[in-house]
Amino acid sequence: MANLIEDIGILGKDGKELCEAYHVSKDVNTGKSRKLYIESYGCQMNFSDSEIVASILQKEGYDTTSEVALADVVFLNTCSIREKAEQTVRNRLNHFSGLKKQRPELIVGVLGCMAERLKTRLLEEEKIVDLVAGPDAYRDLPKLLAQVDDGDKAVNTFLSREETYADISPVRLNSNGVSAFISIMRGCDNMCTFCVVPFTRGRERSRDPKSIVAEAADLFQGGYREVTLLGQNVDSYKWSEAENNKARLEKKGADGVVNFASLLEMVAQIHPDLRVRFSTSHPKDITDEVLHTMARYENICKYIHLPVQSGSSRILEMMNRGYSREWYVGKVQRIREILGEACGISSDMITGFCSETEVDHEETLSLMEMVKFDYAYMFHYSERPGTLAEKKFSDDVPQEVKKRRLTEVIEKQSQHSLMRNRTDVGKVYQVLIEGPSKKSAEQLQGRNSANKVIVFPANGHRRGQYVHVKVEDCTGATLIGKVVE
Ligand code: SAM
Ligand code: SF4
Repeated sequence: MANLIEDIGILGKDGKELCEAYHVSKDVNTGKSRKLYIESYGCQMNFSDSEIVASILQKEGYDTTSEVALADVVFLNTCSIREKAEQTVRNRLNHFSGLKKQRPELIVGVLGCMAERLKTRLLEEEKIVDLVAGPDAYRDLPKLLAQVDDGDKAVNTFLSREETYADISPVRLNSNGVSAFISIMRGCDNMCTFCVVPFTRGRERSRDPKSIVAEAADLFQGGYREVTLLGQNVDSYKWSEAENNKARLEKKGADGVVNFASLLEMVAQIHPDLRVRFSTSHPKDITDEVLHTMARYENICKYIHLPVQSGSSRILEMMNRGYSREWYVGKVQRIREILGEACGISSDMITGFCSETEVDHEETLSLMEMVKFDYAYMFHYSERPGTLAEKKFSDDVPQEVKKRRLTEVIEKQSQHSLMRNRTDVGKVYQVLIEGPSKKSAEQLQGRNSANKVIVFPANGHRRGQYVHVKVEDCTGATLIGKVVE
């Protein structure tokens, strides 16, 4: 285990480092004259943004490709959440410089959070880069590419207060044809002291609910059976005809405000066979109204990603999370009261934040013991330039202590994931089939409402169908079962 996390700060479900697990654009050949290759790093929001980028450039004569060797334009859609994520991108740029030597006409662009954070510095530091575009500048890409075609470098890192790309219908680049992600808001106003997102993605704004419902209905018509509503803090979704910027809306007030609970209900009403998920929930913002809406609709999945970050109230205050340990535990109790034990709850955890003591760390472990998360994304703290923590606190926990604490958190979580999965053995769940299992073409896999992956013999069943599966066995990561009538 110690070796596994030697240089790892962010672990995904398969134990892979999330920031290194990148997505590549798929082959879409409609006979267009130029080819675009996109590698996307970091969070689901970024993967979703790449689909918007592909859609904007499709109209400008670009097909997408999964092979960099065939590309006229290479985009890296980047993540800045911690230092290692940025280093990964710099290594990739190094790798591409060989290609650019062979084909000097190849255009290399950096998009997303790293583009926003570093702006023109990226052009100075990474000579191979021709184009830099922040998350709110994608409509400008055709113009920026034309500038590069004319022999100039091109940069747009303007952050908008309103942009939501509401009218752009994304080209699905990473989809299994069954589940899709829908961006419902952009930016974040929370200012957690460790986090770079408010600086790279700007102020919080919500997307027009009509366009969200239309996109979800379209997906359902196209055979999709699950949508995940995405945002950094979905529970603070707030939209009105007159104002979509949260800060301005709260200041001025407005009529006809649509909140997250009403949006969830609107999407759930599209069709009972369309499952609805959402991520991420902020513990301070998720309301009883949302929990009751979840309870009312069977097709709203009973799963909440509710990042706690730390179990110590002192550290939570320094992180500016807006809740204490007791408040968080109370919120979990409320979820259990309204949605029962079967509701899946997962978390994000950071070890070794500024000034964290062994006592604080023990409190994180004891909170985990109380809640017993089904799953967690676990990180050790990585100081980010420009954040409030960098300005106010000293990054004083030694690296080896951060990593040792991370190992302990991961070990505890592995025990709890297995423990929680064991309680599912013997139960029957409705499962939406996503496709063949990773290990065998004779097995299919899908998820239950609580977001648990279940593997079972195919026996003629197909992707996109709902089946009832009885769980017969499990590992810490997967439930194993068979279809029952
Ligand atoms: N908006 C979501 C929330 O508040 O829970 C999460 C957004 S962030 C992209 C995903 C996770 O990255 C955070 O929940 C946090 O655990 C982790 N993270 C953010 N900044 C970090 C940092 N400087 N060092 C380590 N982990 C960090
Ligand atoms: Fe970052 Fe906090 Fe916003 Fe999440 S809620 S994106 S952790 S500032």
